[in-house]
Amino acid sequence: MIEKTVAELSAALAAGEISSVELTQAYLDRIKQYNQSLNAYITVCEEEAIAQARAADEARAKGENSPLLGIPLAQKDIFCTEGVTTTCGSRMLENFISPYDATVVERLNKAGAVMLGKTNMDEFAMGSSNETSYFGPVRNPWDVKRVPGGSSGGSASAVAADLCAIATGTDTGGSIRQPAAFCGITGFKPSYGRVSRWGMIAFASSLDQAGPIAKSAEDAALMMNVIAGLDEKDSTSIDRPVEDYAASLNDSLDGLRIGIPKQHFAEGLNAEVEQSIRDALAEYEKLGATITEIDLPNNHLSVSAYYVVAPAEASANLSRYDGVRYGYRCDNPADLEDMYKRTRSEGFGDEVKRRIMVGTYALSAGFYDAYYRKAQQIRRLIKQDFNEAFKQVDVIIGPTSPHTAFELGAKTDPVTMYLEDIYTIAVNLAGLPGISIPAAPAGGLPTGLHIVGNDFAEAKVLNVAHQLQRNTDWHKQKPAGLGQEA
Ligand code: GLN
Repeated sequence: MIEKTVAELSAALAAGEISSVELTQAYLDRIKQYNQSLNAYITVCEEEAIAQARAADEARAKGENSPLLGIPLAQKDIFCTEGVTTTCGSRMLENFISPYDATVVERLNKAGAVMLGKTNMDEFAMGSSNETSYFGPVRNPWDVKRVPGGSSGGSASAVAADLCAIATGTDTGGSIRQPAAFCGITGFKPSYGRVSRWGMIAFASSLDQAGPIAKSAEDAALMMNVIAGLDEKDSTSIDRPVEDYAASLNDSLDGLRIGIPKQHFAEGLNAEVEQSIRDALAEYEKLGATITEIDLPNNHLSVSAYYVVAPAEASANLSRYDGVRYGYRCDNPADLEDMYKRTRSEGFGDEVKRRIMVGTYALSAGFYDAYYRKAQQIRRLIKQDFNEAFKQVDVIIGPTSPHTAFELGAKTDPVTMYLEDIYTIAVNLAGLPGISIPAAPAGGLPTGLHIVGNDFAEAKVLNVAHQLQRNTDWHKQKPAGLGQEA
């Protein structure tokens, strides 16, 4: 049962084939069996989960029925959860217990979902491999010597290994889509503003978005139906009606205009991954889509612009961790300055410190025009490229990542790691919705197909993703490597 999709589990729960308590217990057992080798969860909430499952079963007995009622899921440990630690993958927040739930958490709880626990992640969501977590790296269930991607690697590993039915993630530059690609599952980043950021620990506020990490596009739509929508607590959440994302999944793709960016099929793309993407495009042609090459002329500037904007915002957001308000505080400080310095030196890991320094530098008076303003100008050009492209096409498709999952420890140079998001980052800079779904595996490892839509075209993106999954089995491939010793 635990390998099933949310849609299937929901039907089984409604038909009384299984109770939420039984299902929850099955996932908890599986977590006990595999979490030690995968390190996907930082916190497992056994008792709370069973209590939530019991409540879901009772609600169902009273006649309630909604798609997520009684469905066991995992929350990325970036979402504040009342009464349960929220670490953000950092020593700084190792013992932090939030007094409130993030809006995403609150909405999922209200929908009757069961929270199995909090998933591991790169520290403050900075990374592409999950190796920057204070709680140790996460491993990819397809091959435990390999990374699951990052920063939502714990969620991706947990979904791929059936340690939950579905999970949440966040995506600032690719952190939902790239781990989904590496773990052979579906990860959806909505348009900026579609899902509330309230209670989601801030990394780069103008880029961060929450979204589902799931076994199918249909499941992603079911979660979106719960988490999307205006939240008055987040002033950047958009006041725009929420569609029923499950309703248009089966719309025909006949006449769909797909654009493939020539910049995404150039040097650097692994040949086998490219073949998988081309095979998926051929499937779309069979479904009636037409394919044209498009130009995103400023795409090559996206990683550089992001690594000015994101650290700049991070340096401001992370200034709150000073040992005074909450979180880690160093022992026996000599004076206030010593306390600030040692708290931040000891509480943050290297990558976080690097970003704070880069961001502070880019925002400093003498360099603001040269770096920050320039990066914002590039951001505008990137958005304009997409605007032009969407005059000609309905969706843009390419690879999510240039290659499959790499081995732990393989990338030690930060800039090489930053290039991981070469195909995904521009989408965050432009605020657009994007999904990664499995294409055919390459060399026995998953590959990701990246589908990008215009502003607030989440329904279209999910529809395009779902149609491929209806007509192919790539998303049903399962890791065979589970249980290998690390
Ligand atoms: N890999 C990118 C970074 O390290 C993106 C991370 C994210 O999307 N949270 O910043």
